[in-house]
Amino acid sequence: MSEPVGGAGERSSAAVAAEVMDAVRALRRGGLIGLPTETVYGLGADASNPQAVARIFAAKERPANHPLIVHLHRPRQMAVWARAVPLAAWELAEACWPGPLTLILPRSSMVADAVTGGLDTVALRVPAHPLALQVLEEFGGGIAAPSANRHKKISPTTAQDVRDELGDKVDVLLDGGPCRVGIESTIVDLSTGTLRVLRPGAIAAAELQQITGLAVDQTIEASLRCPGRMDLHYAPQAMVLPVPLEQVPHELAQQMARGARVGVLSAQRGPAWPGNIPWLPLGTSPAEQAQQLYQRLREADRMRLDVLIVVAPSDDGLGCALRDRLWRAAGRGAAPA
Ligand code: AMP
Ligand code: MG
Repeated sequence: MSEPVGGAGERSSAAVAAEVMDAVRALRRGGLIGLPTETVYGLGADASNPQAVARIFAAKERPANHPLIVHLHRPRQMAVWARAVPLAAWELAEACWPGPLTLILPRSSMVADAVTGGLDTVALRVPAHPLALQVLEEFGGGIAAPSANRHKKISPTTAQDVRDELGDKVDVLLDGGPCRVGIESTIVDLSTGTLRVLRPGAIAAAELQQITGLAVDQTIEASLRCPGRMDLHYAPQAMVLPVPLEQVPHELAQQMARGARVGVLSAQRGPAWPGNIPWLPLGTSPAEQAQQLYQRLREADRMRLDVLIVVAPSDDGLGCALRDRLWRAAGRGAAPA
């Protein structure tokens, strides 16, 4: 094995191979697996088995018309799942896969309605996690996998998160350690002849443009075509309030005056903040912030905060994806440009 698989405790490669085969057998039986990827943990099923896919929707309590991402082992499998693969898709796959990029393409006739929510398109991705790739290689087919959380809740970034939320629903849970990226993949729609970002992620629009030489449309529309785009999503119990750094003291004073249990999520603690205010530290680089974001939102819930004030990240590159998740956690829809 070229890369460590991560996860709780050191396992021999024989032990890891046995876990992988358990997961593959569960998939073949139509079961559900907890699958580590570099973005977030997925709830996986055999994408070509409609009954297995139906179990994903039941476990997540997710509306059946919300499409799923099909995970593949190799880019060339795109030609099986999509009926047309434009040059830009091959270029993006070559440059970014395995990695945090999902391509939306016209679906082929073998794709089940259960996977696409009846849409004429299919979402495809090759994930960059050694365990996910081993499972995909042994399984051979596509694995449909949305994030392994209940509908509208925070995506899991550790095996323990999956255990806590859906532990009784998965037949096999693979522990691949904490997710390296920590937020969901960039989703790009290539089905209409242009490049449209439906969900910002670790691969920025500028990168997509550079790879393909095509202009990228970043106008994100709230629509059922892309349920990650619902106004309320990735939400903790606490009310999330994204504000600029300089407004934190004012917002803190207001929330404390109304008796709310309030905390702050930010890279640094401000000098003027009251000493007894719970502070949830968030890494200083955008990559660290993305990696830690969902763990911190879960901590806010464990602390039973009513309100979580969040210092809004910058709006370029990965910051754009972070703002998107925060604004949706706040139930405010798309982040302002
Ligand atoms: P999740 O992994 O839970 O974030 O869900 C998968 C994401 O992929 C959702 O945000 C879907 O909207 C998106 N998705 C999957 N298939 C399609 C498709 N055919 N068209 C647009 N978005 C899709
Ligand atoms: Mg999700």
